[in-house]
Amino acid sequence: MRTISFPDGAVVPALGQGTWMMGEDAAKRADEIAALREGVELGMTLIDTAEMYGEGEAERLVGEAVAGMRDRVFLVSKAYPQNASHARLRRACEASLERLRTDRLDLYLLHWRGGMPLAETIEAMEQLVETGRILRWGVSNLDVDDMEELFEAGGSACSTDQILYNLGRRGPEHDLLPWLTERRVPVMAYSPVEQGRLLSNPALRDVGERMKAAPAQVALAWALRRRDVIVIPKASSIAHVRENRAAADLELASEEIDALDRAFPRPRGRVALEML
Ligand code: NDP
Repeated sequence: MRTISFPDGAVVPALGQGTWMMGEDAAKRADEIAALREGVELGMTLIDTAEMYGEGEAERLVGEAVAGMRDRVFLVSKAYPQNASHARLRRACEASLERLRTDRLDLYLLHWRGGMPLAETIEAMEQLVETGRILRWGVSNLDVDDMEELFEAGGSACSTDQILYNLGRRGPEHDLLPWLTERRVPVMAYSPVEQGRLLSNPALRDVGERMKAAPAQVALAWALRRRDVIVIPKASSIAHVRENRAAADLELASEEIDALDRAFPRPRGRVALEML
């Protein structure tokens, strides 16, 4: 599996696993756990979750899924903006660690920007690094202006910006992706198949048919074509996980990339960062 390096040298697979909507339906629990475990076995060892997902239920499910294999997994979780203060971040982090049944997070993100001054969040994150509760920190859903403010406020140790980026959401290619690339900050691309909505697109299906690949694989291979993007699809069946894993080995030829460019053109001008 191709890998991506964080600014501090930590290395992760370019294809990881998301968990939004997991842990919310008891009937699906066993399949979701089996899917995550299969993903880890196949090398998709980065798992992304958040205290928000199912109000802690997704973290609990991840804790169960990685029991006995914690050291093979790169765990990412996120804090609500209202928890991103001195007083509250430590408590939020402890609660996440308990649900995840671990003593440390590999990466802890501010889920989106709220009312807390960024300087305070940076300090609170750095304190968690000092105590070893998290190994590094980053942000999510921050556009260029917010990233500039973050770096000016002393946040240049930020390890990633996790953003909505897929074939239908190419706005970040104008300014945010170049800004991050220049500073060697890798991106985490969320909702890479637009929660399934991309998959019925005729152009995507056409390219898939030519390549003998599923539409989801084409969408993932397209996001993975960039060398600075970590892609985190969520899949709750072993079949989907296996299909997604194979996408990491799929190389899109220039004709396929051109066909996708025509069907999903990059917006002409700047677009504010979108979020789901
Ligand atoms: P995705 O784009 O990953 O889509 C998930 C959907 O696609 C599910 O319904 C899944 O079905 C389906 N799917 C996955 N693989 C396949 C396949 N091979 N064939 C057909 N269907 C497939 O959406 P998400 O919004 O879940 O994004 C991924 C992750 O990114 C999240 O789970 C979360 O961890 C993170 N995220 C972060 C956000 C942020 O604000 N920072 C916001 C949104 C997401 P099934 O479950 O049945 O397998």
